[in-house]
Amino acid sequence: MSTTPESSAPKALIQARDLSKEYREGGRTVTALHSLDLDIGEKDYLAIMGPSGSGKTTVLNLLGALDTDYGGSLRFNDSEVKSMKRNELAGFRNQTVGFVYQSFHLLPHLSVLQNVALPAHFARNGSPDRKELTKRANHLLLRVGLDGMQQRKPLHLSGGERQRVAIARALFNQPRMILCDEPTGALDDATGDSILGLFEELNEQLGVTIVLVTHDQVVADRAHSILRLRDGRLDSAPEEES
Ligand code: ADP
Ligand code: MG
Repeated sequence: MSTTPESSAPKALIQARDLSKEYREGGRTVTALHSLDLDIGEKDYLAIMGPSGSGKTTVLNLLGALDTDYGGSLRFNDSEVKSMKRNELAGFRNQTVGFVYQSFHLLPHLSVLQNVALPAHFARNGSPDRKELTKRANHLLLRVGLDGMQQRKPLHLSGGERQRVAIARALFNQPRMILCDEPTGALDDATGDSILGLFEELNEQLGVTIVLVTHDQVVADRAHSILRLRDGRLDSAPEEES
């Protein structure tokens, strides 16, 4: 590790240049993303907004390397994602990013504790013993305000509690970044608000980079910056209602 004068400058965790995405369906090609330039730094908190079909989920899937079939450049810590080898990609997906979805995606037959500790099964670097994994999962559940609910099944939780479980799970491998697709979309305002409070804490106290897709301006306004998409392009036009 070298220490250079630049090391005090905010580091770009992610750098996208001329990033594009085409989906092929039958004989048809849909261009979902056109020439996007984007920098996301350590500890950023970015909201992505835009109408349905504007490319929000596409961007999130690219940022999380769930999709590596893109045009242009997408660099994570200076590594081009599409040039990463299979094991690098697996490591990236398991160790560097965590995902939080609108519909939580919890496994109903597993307890809260088991849902949170689940990513351990896919983690690459060794297998820490059961005790340690349980300890970490318990610590995270405490962190997200669910202490005492370890043995419950998702079915017996409220929507907000389910999303807290999903957030604890996303944090399990201590990712540097969490990617959230409409994380408050299925929640009432007060519950959504408490989830946003949790994101703020994670961002400020743990330095987790957060990228959050939302339709909701109130939600987006809590982020540090907002990226607006329209038809797969950065929408930098002044906001005017037509
Ligand atoms: P958003 O999340 O903003 O609603 P998406 O990123 O899901 O938008 O989609 C952007 C565009 O790409 C839309 O036109 C959508 O129909 C298209 N699209 C998304 N996923 C696929 C896919 N797997 N195959 C074909 N087209 C897709
Ligand atoms: Mg979407």
